[in-house]
Amino acid sequence: MTETFRINSDRMQAAFNQLAGIGATGDGGVNRPTFSEAHLATRKWFREQIEKSGLEFRIDGAGNHSAVLACSDNHAPTFLLGSHLDSVPNGGRFDGALGVMAAFEVLSTIKDAGLKPGVNLEAIDFTDEEGTLVGLLGSAALTGHLQPDLLQNPRGGRDALVQGMQRAGLSDESMLSAARPKESLAGYLELHIEQGKRLERAGIDIGIVSAIVGIWSYRLSFIGRADHAGTTTMDDRLDASLGASAFTLTAREIVMKDLPNCVANIGNMDFSPGAFNIVPARVEVSLEFRSPDEEEFKRLNSVLLECATQEANRFGLDLNVEFLGKHSPSLMNNQVQSTFDEACDDLGLSRTPLTSGAGHDGQSFDGLCPVGMIFVPSKEGASHSAREFTEWEDCVNGANVLLLAVLKLAM
Ligand SMILES: [Zn+2]
Repeated sequence: MTETFRINSDRMQAAFNQLAGIGATGDGGVNRPTFSEAHLATRKWFREQIEKSGLEFRIDGAGNHSAVLACSDNHAPTFLLGSHLDSVPNGGRFDGALGVMAAFEVLSTIKDAGLKPGVNLEAIDFTDEEGTLVGLLGSAALTGHLQPDLLQNPRGGRDALVQGMQRAGLSDESMLSAARPKESLAGYLELHIEQGKRLERAGIDIGIVSAIVGIWSYRLSFIGRADHAGTTTMDDRLDASLGASAFTLTAREIVMKDLPNCVANIGNMDFSPGAFNIVPARVEVSLEFRSPDEEEFKRLNSVLLECATQEANRFGLDLNVEFLGKHSPSLMNNQVQSTFDEACDDLGLSRTPLTSGAGHDGQSFDGLCPVGMIFVPSKEGASHSAREFTEWEDCVNGANVLLLAVLKLAM
């Protein structure tokens, strides 16, 4: 009975601890930005682990590293499990690493048991999930979402991307060659730390992700008039900072009161001319907001833009709205979510549905194959920090849920 199967906790822990030593910052964290020396060393180490395990090692044109347990049918599609081994600068040792080590352990457990999968199983480390260079780069390349112009104008700068790809033996052409046909994808599952406090606060073992939030971003410019800050009376100013500040406070109130599943962030304000003694003529505001639900997104979008217009009017300002782009929310597959439920029942674990406020590689598979994600508790919600911590028992619980889900979905 496969319900009684369990991963090898000691083996996974030994591998996890070795991995946490590569690029270690000495305070419990790791520093492995994409294609840094430490990241390349991590990838080399992972390759060696795969080769030692008896699983098949594969690398694609995007530099994604995989362990593969092939089934006997050459034409069978592939069921993927994975996450990422890169980190943000001075990040934590669990983010991404836990998901890759758990995926690798799940395949090793299935291979050791002599079980024959009905599809190919692949444990994958995606290149540049965190966005040092591009963000979700390896998964976008694999799923055919990578556009050539994104490689020309990446968020980390074109020079950094070119130099990084060279260090890893990759190129624009190889990146674009990594795309796989839709028919070859049977599903994608990922275990990740929550990076929030909801599971810990509720004392729940497993979060079953229902959706990954979408993100919309805008640059809003509040436009007034530059004047002498000493000789212009208070009632005679067109002060752009007032519209920007009032918008920031009102946006927070609206989201907290009417849209509890959403978040809005004003991450930057840029003042011009920007001097002690000049009334601000222009303030550019970086606005980003997130929601797990497309309908709520539309509502959030219209209330925030209406609010910006009202606050601009209130202070006699003009408003310029520049739309910078959006990612739609990704809904997780219902059947995969119920399979995770059953796996939690088999293991006697408590669980709750959760939305993910952070982006993950699973988004790249949206619409191509069934996608599912589970979270395990993060101590104090800390993440992208050396303080990131998850109890080992929780890591093992997550890996076992992943194992049982794979046995139910892909055998
Ligand atoms: Zn991550």
